Amino acid sequence: MPAVPDTATRLSGDTYVVPGLTNAGYIAGLGIDTSEDEAHYTQVPLDTLVITHGHADHFSVAYLLRSSGARVIAARDDAAMVENPDINIRGMFSWAKPSDKMTTKLFRGIGCAVDGYVEDLDDPRATAISLPGHTLGHHGLLTADGVLFTGDALYLRELWEQHPLPYAIDPGMVVASLERIASVQCEWIVPAHGRPVSREEAEEHLAYHIEQVYEVHDLLLEGLVPGLTTEQAVAYVSRRRGLAENAAAYWLAVTTVKGYLGELLARGEIEFSVRDHAGWWQTVS
Ligand SMILES: [Zn+2]
Repeated sequence: MPAVPDTATRLSGDTYVVPGLTNAGYIAGLGIDTSEDEAHYTQVPLDTLVITHGHADHFSVAYLLRSSGARVIAARDDAAMVENPDINIRGMFSWAKPSDKMTTKLFRGIGCAVDGYVEDLDDPRATAISLPGHTLGHHGLLTADGVLFTGDALYLRELWEQHPLPYAIDPGMVVASLERIASVQCEWIVPAHGRPVSREEAEEHLAYHIEQVYEVHDLLLEGLVPGLTTEQAVAYVSRRRGLAENAAAYWLAVTTVKGYLGELLARGEIEFSVRDHAGWWQTVS
């Protein structure tokens, strides 16, 4: 029997989970994201490595695995972030040049050249499923054994205490992707953070995640009745959701809250105006 990553546990058929800060997947020479330690992959055949999305904790050692011969695959919209993780940091700061002092380590990492797009993946071992919302190009991978690796598209219920406002660029897309996960025929669901859950158990976690998105919507509609600046809206949501008070949590919340503001504005539920040279958001009465 060929070697598999040394800490891997078999979930179904040839599909293994490599547990870590970010769970990775492995099926007969195809990897899904990477754990943070390249030692797990020593002597393990790996011809293809698919990255779920362009956040550095999902491709920590991809550049090493690529230099050992793996073909690295990422989504069209996220490939540039895999190749150059600094793009995330620039995007977070409206493309202006940030200082090293303010950046979250989540987005820092070593880039890895991308050899092909996940949209073109044609492999009997796994099928890519588009699950945007956390990033634009986010994809899940369904293995031939019926195991769906969902990357950061789904947060398990027990993770919400630690992450009361998961990073998202587009909450409407997040909900559509959760509904898509619910419609996929599979046996197991493996989120990148947390534990594998059976398809049946996943049901309540999917419903809970969707419910949380709507709760943030409602929270904003309520908080924006008197009108808030962008900065105040970020602070308001962070406070009400009980976020940790630190720079990393702040910068992630800036993007996520803007995602919600953009969506509510597009739906005509809030208005945007500039007053005293600040951007204001107000619920339409
Ligand atoms: Zn992520």
